[in-house]
Amino acid sequence: MMGIDEKLQPILAEVKRRNAGEPEFHQAVHEVLESLGRVVAKHPHYLDLALIERICEPERQIIFRIPWVDDHGKVQINRGFRVQFNSALGPYKGGMRFHPSVNVGIIKFLGFEQTFKNALTGMPIGGGKGGSDFDPKGRSDGEIMRFCQSLMTELHRHLGDQTDVPAGDIGVGGREIGYMFGQYKRLNNRFEAGVFTGKALAYGGSRARTEATGYGNTYFVQAMLATKGTSYDGKRVVVSGSGNVAIYTIEKVQSFGGKVVACSDSSGYVIDESGIDLALLKEVKDVRRERISEYARRRGADAHFVPAEKGSVWDVACQVAMPSATQNELSGKDARALVKNGVMAVGEGANMPCTPEAVKVFQDAGVLFAPGKAANAGGVATSALEMQQNASRDSWTFEQTEARLATIMRNIHDTCHATAEEYGAPGDYVLGANIAGFVRVAEAMRMLGVI
Ligand code: GLU
Repeated sequence: MMGIDEKLQPILAEVKRRNAGEPEFHQAVHEVLESLGRVVAKHPHYLDLALIERICEPERQIIFRIPWVDDHGKVQINRGFRVQFNSALGPYKGGMRFHPSVNVGIIKFLGFEQTFKNALTGMPIGGGKGGSDFDPKGRSDGEIMRFCQSLMTELHRHLGDQTDVPAGDIGVGGREIGYMFGQYKRLNNRFEAGVFTGKALAYGGSRARTEATGYGNTYFVQAMLATKGTSYDGKRVVVSGSGNVAIYTIEKVQSFGGKVVACSDSSGYVIDESGIDLALLKEVKDVRRERISEYARRRGADAHFVPAEKGSVWDVACQVAMPSATQNELSGKDARALVKNGVMAVGEGANMPCTPEAVKVFQDAGVLFAPGKAANAGGVATSALEMQQNASRDSWTFEQTEARLATIMRNIHDTCHATAEEYGAPGDYVLGANIAGFVRVAEAMRMLGVI
C-alpha cells in the first residue's frame, strides 16, 4: 500500500476534524483515499467537483432513543442509528447491527464501506447502515421482540422499498428482521416486502440469502486462487467467527475440498484437526446459541478449545484465512504469524477485519488479499436479488439464486483484478476494489448534478 496523495490529504484532515473521535470511520476513509491518488491523476475533474468530499459526507444521519421494558418490568434505554450514506445508485441499502460496541462512528464506517461494496455488485443499490448499542446476549425472545418493535416505531418513517432497505448484520438475523418487518407492516398498513431483506422464506425472503455472504467470499477466494493455478482442494483453511458468515464459509469451503481446521467466537477458538463438524457447529451456535467451547466438549477427543486470553485463532497454521468475525480482529502480529506459517490467500468475510498493518504485511509478502468490500459483497448482492423477487412477486429456486450469486462474485473479482491492472498495480485487490467502487458512485453523482 502507498501513502495518501498530497491533493487528497486536506480531505482526510477535514473528515477527521468533522468526525472527531470516530477512529473506525477515519480508518475506512484513509484506506479508500490511499487508492484514489491514481484516480484523480487520471480524472482531475473529480477534484473540481468535490466528489470525494461529498462521498465522505453521509446524506443523512438519524440518531434516536429506543425505550423498552425488560422481563423484570424495568425500563431500558438504548440508542438507535441509521446512517443513509449515499443514494446515487439506488435506495440506501445495508444491514442493522445490534452490539454494545455500536456508536455513530462504527455505523458511519460500515455505511461508507457499504456504499462502495454495493456499487461493486453492479446492482441498483445505494449505501447505508444502522443499528443499536443494544446487547442481545442473554435477552429473552420477548425482550428481543419488544426492543425491535420500539426501534421500528421510530425508524419506520425513514424507510421504504424505494428509500432505505435494511437487512441483518452482527446480532441481527432472521428472528430480529421478522420482528422489525412485522412492526413496520403494522405501522404503515402496507405489506411492502421489499423494505427489508434477509426475511424468512415464509413472508417474502430469498433462498440462498442466509448462505450468500459466506458462499460469496468462498467464490471470490476461489477466483483469486485460480489466478495462481490452484484451488481449495486439500488446503488447510481457518475461518474466524461462528456466526452466519463463518458457518456458510465453512460449508462451501468444505464442498470445494478445503479442510477447515479452526473457527472461533469472542470467548476463544476451537481447533479440530479432522475438520470442523458443521452439523455440530450449527447446533451449538445457531440453534442453542452457546459458547464455542461447547463444540469442543461435545466433539470429544478430536477438538480442543483455546480461550481468547491464551491465543488467537490466527496462530493456527493454514494456507487460506477467512476472517469472518468483526472489524480489526486480525492484527499486524496475527498477519505475521499467518505469513510465517505459509498463508497464501486471505478473504475478508467480515467488514474491515484486518487492521491496516495486517493488510500491509499480507501485501508485502505477496499473499492474495481480498478486501471485505469486494469479497463479502455476496450478502448484499443476494439482498438485491431478494428485492428483485419481491418487486416481481416471484420466488426463485436455490440453484437459480446461487447461480446468480456465483456470476456476480466472478464479475466482482474480474472487475477488481482488471481495475488494479488498468491503474498500474496488478494483483492489488484493495486498490482495484476501491477504485472500481468509487468510480461507479462518482460517475452517477456527477451526472446527477451537485447533490
Ligand atoms: N450486513 C451485510 C453487509 O455488511 C448485508 C447488508 C444487506 O444485505 O443489506 O454487507
